[in-house]
This record gives sequence, structure tokens and C-alpha cells, in this order.
Amino acid sequence: MKGLLIVISAPSGTGKTTLVNMLMKSHPDMAFSVSCTTRKPRPGEINGKDYYFISLEEFEKKIEKNELLEWAEVYGNFYGTPKDRVIKALNEGKDILLDIDTQGALQVKKNYPDAVLIFILPPSLAELERRLKSRGTEDEETVEKRLLIARRELKFATRYDYIIINDKINEAYKKLESIVTAERWKTRRVREHFPELIKDREMLQLLNCK
Ligand code: ADP
Ligand code: 5GP
Repeated sequence: MKGLLIVISAPSGTGKTTLVNMLMKSHPDMAFSVSCTTRKPRPGEINGKDYYFISLEEFEKKIEKNELLEWAEVYGNFYGTPKDRVIKALNEGKDILLDIDTQGALQVKKNYPDAVLIFILPPSLAELERRLKSRGTEDEETVEKRLLIARRELKFATRYDYIIINDKINEAYKKLESIVTAERWKTRRVREHFPELIKDREMLQLLNCK
């Protein structure tokens, strides 16, 4: 079956990385799009796994060579999705997940209307602030900047196909998994694979009648 292009966005600190990691762990068949960024790595981040950490010059070259599916400036750094990995996964019938910001997500939807856009919401702005601070990876000024941008990003949530409120992590995860399953079984995605999926010849004939 043709793979799904799944795009997940959320204001920084909502819990998107946590949810994406849970999904990737229980779906090893799913590919994750590793983005390029000009941001410096955080402690524990691995080049090639979390991001490809590159210079601004290298990033600009990728734009020039049309190697990025989408790109955007987020929090003063550049981020972009390498095109080759996404196209390869979809052609191989693999689902691929993109963890990108709202500007990038809307660019993807414009070029690939079939993409599934999921927005993760925090239960409240106060809880978002608490999570950002408790993660302890950003200084006070960066936290403030991210909270300001969060307010801007929330305005785009209703343009997504699905919204998940990440209050209790396990409940949010169940919703995420249900969305992926439902999308995989959409009639328009499944019908071209009837011959592989349905072994009963008579039923297959009936299904193929208009
Ligand atoms: P994001 O990728 O959206 O920036 P993270 O996944 O890094 O966010 O989560 C931010 C912080 O909030 C982390 O410390 C994480 O453990 C915590 N967190 C994530 N989801 C929940 C939740 N449902 N309830 C409480 N804390 C959460
Ligand atoms: P962080 O620096 O916290 O890892 O990510 C900051 C923001 O950049 C997040 O909203 C994340 O989704 C977004 N981001 C990460 N990779 C990409 C990308 O390739 N393209 C775009 N447009 N945004 C990205």
C-alpha cells in the first residue's frame, strides 16, 4: 500500500517528541523524517538521529539545490525536511512521520493534499509553561520566546486534519494511534489493494462492481 505522509506539529513543550517516540517505538515499520537544522544540538541529541546539524551555508545550498520538501525559520534557526528520504519511504509503501512547525506543515499540505496533519495541543498555556521549564533544556529567555511563539502557532491548529489534547500522555497516545490506523484503512487508500487483501474471488468481484 502507498505509505502515509503524517505531519505532526505542536507548540514547543507540548509533548510532541514524547508522543512521536512512543509511536515510532511501537511501529518500527514507520519511518521518521530526520530534519536538517542550523540550531546547535542539545545535550544528548545525536547528529543523524535527532537532526542533521548543519551550518547556515550548507542549509542555503540545500535550498538552492531544491533538496528540501519544505523549510522554515523557527525561533531564529532554520529547519527543513530532506526530500529524498520522504519520497523513498512513500514509494516503498512505508508511512513516514514529519515533526515540523506550522509553516512547514501547511507547505506540505499545499504540495501533498493527501498528507495527514495532526496538531497536538497542551491542556493549557500554564501547563505548557510548566512542561517547558521542567524539561530544563532552555534558558529563561528561550522559554519566554517559545511561549510567545506558541500563542501564534495555536492559531493554525484548526487548519489541521486532527487535533489531540495532550493531557494524560497514554490517552493522547491512544488517539494518535487511532488516527494512524483509521487513515491507513480509508476506502480510497485500501481499494486499489483489494486483490492482495481479499482472497474470496466472488467478494472481490462484487466489491469491484460500481
Ligand atoms: P515537545 O517535543 O513538544 O517540545 P517534549 O516531548 O520534549 O515536548 O515534552 C516536554 C516536557 O513535557 C518533557 O519533559 C515531557 O516529559 C513532558 N510531557 C510530555 N507529555 C506530557 C504529559 N501528557 N503530561 C505531563 N508531562 C508531559
Ligand atoms: P526544536 O528546536 O525544539 O527541536 O524544534 C523547534 C520547532 O521546529 C518544532 O516546532 C519542530 O517541529 C520544528 N521543526 C523541526 N524540524 C523541522 C523541519 O524540518 N521543518 C520545519 N518547518 N519545522 C521543523
